[in-house]
Amino acid sequence: MDPPRPFPESLCHRCAAPPRYVRSASSTFILCPLLPDKYPPQPVLRCPLFRPRPKP
Ligand code: SF4
Repeated sequence: MDPPRPFPESLCHRCAAPPRYVRSASSTFILCPLLPDKYPPQPVLRCPLFRPRPKP
């Protein structure tokens, strides 16, 4: 079973970037492929690069 996603309110979970989930033994980090610093401070509530992920 997948571990729960960190910061459920984060915009990243709904972003078309799309983010990658990087898991360590104790946590999951959200890696943004668009931002130069890769790991934005979470939770991301606003982001100029956010695009909604298309519905399947
Ligand atoms: S572009 Fe913004 S909202 Fe999308 S994954 Fe990156 S940081 Fe999150």
